[in-house]
Amino acid sequence: MTAEFRHSGWAVRGYRLYSLLASALMVLVGLCSSLEWWLDLNLVPDLGGRDMRLTAALCILLSGLALAAVGRGGKALRLAASLLCAAIIGLGADALLEHGVAGYRGVAGWLDAVSGAGVRPPVLMAELAACAFVLLGGQGILVLNSRAVVLREAFGLGVLAIAMASVASLAFLLAQRGESLLDHLPPLTGISLLFGTLGWMSSTPTTGLTRISTAATLGGVFARSLLLPALLLPLAYTFAFKLLETRFGVPQIIASTLGAVFTGGSVAWMIWLVAALLDRSERLREASLQLRDVADTDSLTGLGNRRKFDAEIDALLREYRQQRTPFSLLVLDVDHFKAYNDGYGHQAGDEALREIGRLLRTVLRPRDVAVRYGGEEFVLLVHGVRMPQLPVIAARILHTIRANDWPLLPLTASIGGAEVCDADSAATLLQRADASLYRAKRNGRDRFEAMGCAECFASRSAPPALRAREWDQPPPGCRGGVAA
Ligand code: GH3
Ligand code: MG
Ligand code: MG
Repeated sequence: MTAEFRHSGWAVRGYRLYSLLASALMVLVGLCSSLEWWLDLNLVPDLGGRDMRLTAALCILLSGLALAAVGRGGKALRLAASLLCAAIIGLGADALLEHGVAGYRGVAGWLDAVSGAGVRPPVLMAELAACAFVLLGGQGILVLNSRAVVLREAFGLGVLAIAMASVASLAFLLAQRGESLLDHLPPLTGISLLFGTLGWMSSTPTTGLTRISTAATLGGVFARSLLLPALLLPLAYTFAFKLLETRFGVPQIIASTLGAVFTGGSVAWMIWLVAALLDRSERLREASLQLRDVADTDSLTGLGNRRKFDAEIDALLREYRQQRTPFSLLVLDVDHFKAYNDGYGHQAGDEALREIGRLLRTVLRPRDVAVRYGGEEFVLLVHGVRMPQLPVIAARILHTIRANDWPLLPLTASIGGAEVCDADSAATLLQRADASLYRAKRNGRDRFEAMGCAECFASRSAPPALRAREWDQPPPGCRGGVAA
């Protein structure tokens, strides 16, 4: 079973928009570079390295067109886009053969022959570019057909590695002319590959590697804030400090020291960001826990309320069904409380209820739960307790209330109890405890009665609501009310 995975809407839209822009950029660069070659123009800057080769420009153009089809149109458009990607693989493989097999003349050779070699720049793309385009074409086909997510992301990472190496070389080249990968892969091809493969990855933002960075979770926020800086900062520093050294004459020791300080500073900044996000999420969690506590608390007594009772009994019933951990339910009702209220006023009644809440808190174990169910009726859930131990617990509670130093008039309570049985729901368990309470009231109050599983139910439908009522009628659903 897979859990529902939530995504941040704006992050998903952002990725899709980026993918669209990347496809437009690839079409533009691919088209301009091809036209430049055919028409002998100078439309695209060469960025200090060699020009993009015609076959590479065609691959970029085709990949940009195919990328624009992701998520649009029907089967036919997807098929056409897949064929474009297959053509990219074909062009890349053809270039590799031309490089590797002596005497093999492929598309580049044919184009050279048609256009007159030597007049225009060479057509054949570099080996590294050819490898990258084979991977890019494969990535495109798998994205378009929603297949083999792991393989498609591996293809994407392969293109990314080649493109990043090319861009890093550009940094070195601009800073200090010398040996670089650019002799094998022109910078514009590298940059287009970088944008292109990220465009393919972003085109399906809720699957693959981008899935985590669109997640509506803390992990998603980390990924969105830190992945790009982690990818690009080392590159930028390498370039900047090499430039300081070679172009501005800053001594190597100072440039290296600055490099170390900035790299350390960036790592520290990223750690600080992670720590700040964790700190914020922890505070939010605490605030939401506090809110939940307020929502679960009875404001008069500070005990739990009905909401708390519903959650607790559901959890206890689940635990009973899964692990057979028993529990019992007690319903406590203050005796003759109406008279107390009438005699001393509502305020005094409230004070007495507060005192009963305090007494229940002191007399129960921490694991047990006491809630004010309504009026002057309380429900207690005693964990791990079966019928035989119930009288002892109930006697302790009754004694604590009876023996309390009541300022106006001694108060007592009656308790009805029931232990959980296999077929119980919250309603049936309450029904049995309520019927027992009825019996305790009838038998003279200030006492405890309990019912076994079989004693109460004539029918399980229409469980009685716990409410203030006269005790001369048994609650609906119970036979005579007096157990054998
Ligand atoms: P019995 O022994 O049969 O339970 O008699 P009783 O008078 O306690 O009867 P019942 O349980 O029906 O009592 C309900 C009374 O509890 C009615 C009302 O005066 C009082 N009561 C209910 N809720 C509150 C409350 O929030 N504050 C105060 N002060 N009194 C309440
Ligand atoms: Mg009462
Ligand atoms: Mg009552």
